[in-house]
Amino acid sequence: MIQFTTMAETAPSHSTVAPPVSGRIARTEYKVSDDQQDLFALPQRYLDLQREARALAAECADIAARADEADSFDPDVRKRLTASRLTEVVVPAAYGGRFEKVDSLAVTIVREALAAESAHLDSMFGMQGIGSYCISVGGSEELKAEWLPKVARLEAVAALGLTEPHVGSDLKALSTTVVERDGKLVVDGHKSFITNGGDADFYSILAREGDGYSLVLVPAGAPGLRIEHPHQIIAPHVLSDVILENVEVPVGNRIGEPGKGFALVLATLATFRVSVAGAAVGVAQAALDEAVAHAKSREGFGVSLARLGSVPEHLASCWTDIEMARSLTYRAAAASARDARANLHLSSMAKVGATEAAARVVDRSVQIMGRFGLVRGGKLERLYREARPMRIYEGSTEVIFDSLAKQLVKEAP
Ligand SMILES: Cc1cc2nc3c(=O)[nH]c(=O)nc-3n(C[C@H](O)[C@H](O)[C@H](O)COP(=O)(O)OP(=O)(O)OC[C@H]3O[C@@H](n4cnc5c(N)ncnc54)[C@H](O)[C@@H]3O)c2cc1C
Repeated sequence: MIQFTTMAETAPSHSTVAPPVSGRIARTEYKVSDDQQDLFALPQRYLDLQREARALAAECADIAARADEADSFDPDVRKRLTASRLTEVVVPAAYGGRFEKVDSLAVTIVREALAAESAHLDSMFGMQGIGSYCISVGGSEELKAEWLPKVARLEAVAALGLTEPHVGSDLKALSTTVVERDGKLVVDGHKSFITNGGDADFYSILAREGDGYSLVLVPAGAPGLRIEHPHQIIAPHVLSDVILENVEVPVGNRIGEPGKGFALVLATLATFRVSVAGAAVGVAQAALDEAVAHAKSREGFGVSLARLGSVPEHLASCWTDIEMARSLTYRAAAASARDARANLHLSSMAKVGATEAAARVVDRSVQIMGRFGLVRGGKLERLYREARPMRIYEGSTEVIFDSLAKQLVKEAP
């Protein structure tokens, strides 16, 4: 039988499994009988990874505020992430990675820990996988051997170019083209809001080819590729536009079969979408930790802020939101690690659930902290700016709901 208690109420016993979470507030512990041992616990190798990621996050705490304001790579964050070797998690073992194939649960757990400290750090880690996964699963042996070991060591920075100035969710309307001419691939177009733009060493670019869409690896130094910064965004994110004018690359730079690029984009989403949920859980937890610390340290009307008016309800509802989001996120990530495509619906639910929860939690945390939640450069302000775009990128909430509803109705008897 499973008994739910809180750490604050019950001393740990030998049958108590420590939950895979951290922070300053009391957490639910799951006491399990022997036959259910580990039902809700992460296996040891993920706990070890979580410890590594938390250590890196703590190491970056002193530079996180600076890095989250940067519009290009922070050299110290890059140095520390490189030294941690955590980017090995996003590449298959055969090319210098940690896991035989890229493991959604591992990526999710790392992102939860990193995003709680710095969006810049989390994005630098996550994009290495998002920008290179199409090579891992669809690239030629030559492309894999040339680029993946460098991605694993953070010697080459990856980026994924899908969005265009007039095309976002409706990706099939894109207008960038690739044609094969005189033994070369020639790419023309404009990619917009590209994470790592300007700092990336290569761009995996989605372009029309004939009646289909192909992915092409374009090195940053290719003649005809240039970077523009038309937008300053509130999200703490390195981002720019990538313009491609008559850019020539070898035919071998096509990633996968001609016209089959969309399948690789879908494979990337299926594997990495749930990791956005992990990052959102990390952001929400960090915000609540700030709010709890503030509420405990302050008094108003003769009582602790933590007991005043609707503050206790805000605190408890944030905690509930986070535990629900984390449970679904870990379940979806574990399912995705087994079979990402078959479990995309769970990853999508986790992404929507956790990012919407993070938005609520961060907003309530600001409310609890009053004016101190609004201070520029404060931790909560950074978390606020980090949470907002999560509901837009890698599938907006509305677009995901639309496809979940279609699947639900289609599969109903
Ligand atoms: C911080 C950040 C980083 C990014 N990094 C990258 C990157 O590295 N590479 C890249 O290619 N792109 C990147 N993007 C772009 C991102 O992928 C797009 O913003 C996203 O696809 C949504 O497109 P859009 O912004 O054009 O919104 P639109 O697609 O124009 O949507 C606008 C609104 O309409 C709603 N909507 C649209 N279609 C539907 C529908 N069918 N049903 C219901 N509602 C709908 C949306 O939910 C949204 O509310 C990034 C964006 C941000 C904010």
